[in-house]
Amino acid sequence: MKVPVVRNILEVNDRIANEHRELFQENNVLVLNLMSSPGAGKTTLLENTIGHLKESLRIGVIEGDIQTSADAERILHAGAAAVQINTDGACHLDGNMIKAALGSINTEGTDLLFIENVGNLVCPAEFDLGEDYKVMILSVTEGDDKPEKYPLMFHEASVLLINKIDLLPYVNCNMDKIRQTVLKINPKIKIFEISCQTKEGLDNWFGWIMEHIKNKT
Ligand code: MG
Ligand code: ZN
Repeated sequence: MKVPVVRNILEVNDRIANEHRELFQENNVLVLNLMSSPGAGKTTLLENTIGHLKESLRIGVIEGDIQTSADAERILHAGAAAVQINTDGACHLDGNMIKAALGSINTEGTDLLFIENVGNLVCPAEFDLGEDYKVMILSVTEGDDKPEKYPLMFHEASVLLINKIDLLPYVNCNMDKIRQTVLKINPKIKIFEISCQTKEGLDNWFGWIMEHIKNKT
């Protein structure tokens, strides 16, 4: 019997991811793979992060979207290098897409590289992109049932940012339920509560990045 095709795809992907991981390590780049459902606030978080850290770090962003270069333009405007990948329908990024994007990224001149994945709570978690850490954003408007419905995402992520906490008075979202469910799936995950509108909690996220940049160099 033949090996199933899906397994082959993931094996090829892992090989490419390992090549990229070596390249990132050689050049001391901290690489974060940012995942969430559409509209959770990935690009807005990146704009805030770039605004705060661009004086101390050289930042690059690989933007994954099914269509448009709108997000890469926002990143350029915020002050970081940006490459847009249009997946033309594919709902996640894979190693070959990252390989194509790296042709336009100067890894030697980058300290911090974000990969903003396609908005989707399912398959981005299955594809290793050679990143150091997967970071997940969940916004309170999505409800508190997402961790139990999409456990793989929360299992694979090293950091969970719970975003839009300024909207908590207006939505039915139990923060304790999120924390308990997520910690049951992944006891080691680091959880930060943030709002990109009021800026509450963002310093903890910036601090986490700086801590991990120091560990790299
Ligand atoms: Mg975006
Ligand atoms: Zn997909």
